[in-house]
Amino acid sequence: MVKAIATSSRTRDIIRKHRFTFKKSLGQNFLINTEVLDQIIEAAGLDDTKGALEVGPGIGSLTERLAKVAGKVAAVEIDKRLIPILEDVMSPYDNVSVVHSDILKTDLRQLWEERFSGLTGVSVVANLPYYVTTPIIMKLLEERLALDNIVVMVQKEVALRMAAKPGGKDYGSLSIAVQYYCEPEIVCVVPGKSFIPAPNVESAVIKLKRRVAPAVNVPEEDKFFNVVQTAFAQRRKTLSNNLSAFSGKERKGELNELLLSCGVQPERRAETLSLQEFADVCEALTRSGM
Ligand code: SAM
Repeated sequence: MVKAIATSSRTRDIIRKHRFTFKKSLGQNFLINTEVLDQIIEAAGLDDTKGALEVGPGIGSLTERLAKVAGKVAAVEIDKRLIPILEDVMSPYDNVSVVHSDILKTDLRQLWEERFSGLTGVSVVANLPYYVTTPIIMKLLEERLALDNIVVMVQKEVALRMAAKPGGKDYGSLSIAVQYYCEPEIVCVVPGKSFIPAPNVESAVIKLKRRVAPAVNVPEEDKFFNVVQTAFAQRRKTLSNNLSAFSGKERKGELNELLLSCGVQPERRAETLSLQEFADVCEALTRSGM
């Protein structure tokens, strides 16, 4: 019986056969742990009525598993040297399409229409290239694609930031952006030895379950995220000092009154505010023309 791609021996065989060399600059660390794959697949909750978008299939360790459980799989890979390898290893599966493209430059709405129409749901499932984790996640969330959830392997530190609650050092603008759109849940922590080559950081699988509606109501999303970014501009400064970027020095007293009217002490730091408090502050700033 042919071994799974996500085993050390099969991965090494494929790499040797195709004389593949890893590109560190593309975040190429291939997964060789089938137990972690089991957990990723279970978290995604796929079946043959659903689609899966995989970002960065590499030599196909996760793609192979997705092909067995999902109705359709689209795998977007930037490295053209991997395309013939993927076509070779995926030849037993007729539900997989390999797309040679940079995910950040891919028209995802078009891809959804072309590959996933008629399916009951779509998940994004990936072992992400760590150098572009945040831009990829933000693109997936901001484009408001019809997707059920995102189950991805990321650097552990980034997973902790996405799932962080107010009050700690991990909580910041990434936590708020992710939690505005999704409910995060850390699935498992993954040691470096689960990959070839082994990265020198720990990884984690995180599930982001898409909310039906955003977590809070805001007058304008761009303004909300601008307020959040500005509030965190200098973490050690008070909220009032950071948000004076909106009021100017001359209206700082008014800004402090406005924060108090939202039940927020001006000397608090951004990392202590909940999403609802940020939404209230954003609304008050908008109302006052700041
Ligand atoms: N899924 C494979 C696995 O788990 O073994 C490979 C994961 S590896 C961490 C990341 C993959 O993403 C690599 O194959 C890399 O070439 C690809 N990649 C890097 N940047 C990309 C981008 N901007 N768009 C699409 N794929 C990208």
